[in-house]
Amino acid sequence: MALLVFAAGVGALSRFDPAAGLAFAAGGAALLAALFGRALLRPLEEIGRFAVARAAGDMERRLRWRTGPGRPIADALDHAADAVSARIAQADSEKEQLQAVLGGMVEGVLVVNATGRIVLANPRLRQMFSAWGEVTGRTPLEVIRHAGVGDVLRAAASTQELVSAEIQVAGAEERSILMNAVAFPASGPRLGTVAVFHDVSDVRRLENMRRDFVANVSHELKTPLTAVRGFAETLLSGDVPPADVDKYLGVILKHADRLSNLIDDLLELSRIESRKVPLQRTAVDVGRVAASVMAGMEPQLRAKSLGVKLIDEAPGEALADRRAVEQVLTNLLDNAAKYTNSGGHLEVRVSDAHDGIRVEVQDDGIGIPDEDLPRIFERFYRVEKARSRDLGGTGLGLSIVKHLVQAMDGDISVSSEVGRGSTFAFTLPRAPISRNGP
Ligand code: ADP
Repeated sequence: MALLVFAAGVGALSRFDPAAGLAFAAGGAALLAALFGRALLRPLEEIGRFAVARAAGDMERRLRWRTGPGRPIADALDHAADAVSARIAQADSEKEQLQAVLGGMVEGVLVVNATGRIVLANPRLRQMFSAWGEVTGRTPLEVIRHAGVGDVLRAAASTQELVSAEIQVAGAEERSILMNAVAFPASGPRLGTVAVFHDVSDVRRLENMRRDFVANVSHELKTPLTAVRGFAETLLSGDVPPADVDKYLGVILKHADRLSNLIDDLLELSRIESRKVPLQRTAVDVGRVAASVMAGMEPQLRAKSLGVKLIDEAPGEALADRRAVEQVLTNLLDNAAKYTNSGGHLEVRVSDAHDGIRVEVQDDGIGIPDEDLPRIFERFYRVEKARSRDLGGTGLGLSIVKHLVQAMDGDISVSSEVGRGSTFAFTLPRAPISRNGP
């Protein structure tokens, strides 16, 4: 409509004065341009505001410019912006998932780019290598300070294969870390290398323990067997004077007993460790159990003229397995008797501990050197091998004691002085007070 009026005006004017007509036409053109310009600018401005709002995270924002020929464009822009937003949301959620996985992994993960700079290091990796602070963009050597890691990363970067190596990491306790590294992507130009670190220290320690254990058991079995065999062969050869036959048979019997003790202790240890026979924990009067164990050992104690005393402070009952408590006391008293010279004294005290029942088995025997004390509960550990064997020891008694006490949620400790004697003390949890009982 404005256009028709304007055209009519131009026509009318040009009939009278060409210059005025021209001026009028120029003014009209400017007016038209301004009108069209405004009409064009408004949607463009709105698109701009829309883009800024979307970029700032306002995902609900829609283009209001919905009229006339602009509508398909507005729809297309809204649609495109929604698609971009959906992708961003998906990427965000994938990133969060990845972060959660990396954060929760027990393995350390390290990713370096093609120039060997760190792109990613998960929390476990930082903990494994005590790598704190900013690590992105730095080299593994700067952060991890282990030459072996760099060697494996370089080796992996130059091959298609997975490269594995076990590295030792020094620290308060040396740890064995299995490292697997592979370059990515599998084909095409290399973008970097990803390495996964698995702490295998416990596995290695168990393997070593098992190896040592098998070696120890074989050795322990072999010694008495060799003796039994040697003495039996000598007897069979007929070279033994009849007066010595009994002595030889006695030696054979002693070694056969040792073998049998050893096998009993091994079976007991494996039974406790495998927890195949669960402990039956009930309220146990430890003082009474101690009295009965001591009574059972009387012949052994009398043979060595050992004085023995039980001090039962009646601290109440422990939550324990009666048979296990018997076994613990038997082993400790047996040791006390074995490693105390004739005429010595043994004492068992059952008392009230801060949070349970405390039992002390004390002797005034040979004592244990300070340097041996930390290892005394290890399997087959003996201060004097020959003395222990002579006394029929297997080197497993204290190991069994420790396992049993711990299986009952107790603690055991030892204090000793060479030449003055030893005290083994263990605690057991207190049994809950029975509501029906006295
Ligand atoms: P063993 O069968 O040799 O007695 P144990 O495991 O019972 O094995 O004890 C390990 C070692 O601890 C013994 O060989 C001995 O050297 C030392 N030991 C244990 N109890 C005592 C004790 N009461 N006094 C001195 N030494 C002890």
